[in-house]
Amino acid sequence: MSPPFIEAFLGDITELPVDAVVNAANSRLAGGGGVDGAIHRAAGVTELRAACATLGGCDPGDAKATPGFALPAPWIIHTVGPVWSGGHKGEPEILASCYRRCLAVADELGARSIAFPAISTGVYGYPPHLAAELAVATVSTAPSDIELVRLVAFDTETHALYLRFLRGGP
Ligand code: ADP
Repeated sequence: MSPPFIEAFLGDITELPVDAVVNAANSRLAGGGGVDGAIHRAAGVTELRAACATLGGCDPGDAKATPGFALPAPWIIHTVGPVWSGGHKGEPEILASCYRRCLAVADELGARSIAFPAISTGVYGYPPHLAAELAVATVSTAPSDIELVRLVAFDTETHALYLRFLRGGP
């Protein structure tokens, strides 16, 4: 169990040929906008909705897997990030739990590579720099058999934050 190689990637997570793509879902696993909508469209809305409907929802900080259907990735790991409400309602602990639980579920699936979107930094309102710092710190210290972690940014600001924290910058 050596630390994974972690890289920042700028682009569309639905196109990545990794073993598992993480979805920033809602607790009903009902599909939505943002990266959730993009993953549903690319995987196949009907198939993915049906698979999610069997999972019984997902608590914030937890993670559950479905097949990737039409995605290049064989698995989708759905996690539910915290809604930001100032930072004193357990948001950092819940967000760290998302990253750790996704890595644990990926291990159970036998995955060796995983791609994460910037969980909670869209409509859930988590400040991007705090989320990026926490993502880098958590995936670099969580025990797992994953060999490659891609932290996927959909905008250049988030990409720059990942590069900065991966270099060990403040
Ligand atoms: P949340 O509800 O957890 O905040 P969002 O989907 O609103 O989730 O946003 C999470 C992050 O995913 C944002 O940084 C957003 O820019 C990014 N994002 C949206 N679409 C994609 C995509 N196709 N690939 C990668 N990241 C995406």
